[in-house]
Amino acid sequence: MIRIVLLGPPGSGKGTQASALEAKHGIPHIASGDLLRANVKENTALGQQAKPYMDRGELVPDELILDMMAARLSEPDAQQGYVLDGFPRTVAQAESLEQRLAKLDQGLDAVIYLAVPEDEILRRLSGRRTCPECHAVYHVDTMPPQKEGICDKCGAKLIQRDDEKPEVIRKRLEVYTEQTRPLLEFYRQRGLLEEVDGTIGVENVVREIEKIVAGSRAAVSE
Ligand code: AMP
Repeated sequence: MIRIVLLGPPGSGKGTQASALEAKHGIPHIASGDLLRANVKENTALGQQAKPYMDRGELVPDELILDMMAARLSEPDAQQGYVLDGFPRTVAQAESLEQRLAKLDQGLDAVIYLAVPEDEILRRLSGRRTCPECHAVYHVDTMPPQKEGICDKCGAKLIQRDDEKPEVIRKRLEVYTEQTRPLLEFYRQRGLLEEVDGTIGVENVVREIEKIVAGSRAAVSE
């Protein structure tokens, strides 16, 4: 049983690392952005409400996110732990998660902050290409697919997300600094925050995170 939150600016590698944690520990990778995009694609009421905010690079209102996450975290697969990617993103969301966990007599094992400087974020996000079907992520320079524009895993045509166009990327970074960065202090005060340099390469970040996970497990069983 392990509950992890990944924090960091858009493009810091949360999705990649969450998938690695999912594969290694058998816990679901729960990405609020993926859940929202699925709702937009299926044109649900939530998707219709969330889309304008997402298109502008702003945060979707807390009430909508909290309902969506409460439903997701109640599903059977999340009872054995999870890795959260993109949630919480505001102090109100972090407080709500904390209250939910307290009610269940549970807590987070670690909050891992992937630190990446802003110029590197801009470079990463503008070259990013995503598979709309299986959510695999590529980069035109650093992680190109074998066949240009096609997903290696499922053969779908890769896209550049609307919110990865330069103007929207800037807005998302601004929103991150104003609304999500304060969470670092929130979790530091609770003794949960662990920082990892997100620029040392995917495999090295995986190793650093594994050390943290092993440490937090040892602490729990002491
Ligand atoms: P992501 O894929 O995590 O970068 O999320 C894409 C977009 O979905 C964000 O720019 C927000 O508009 C919205 N979003 C995702 N997660 C949240 C959240 N926890 N709170 C508010 N909005 C969110």
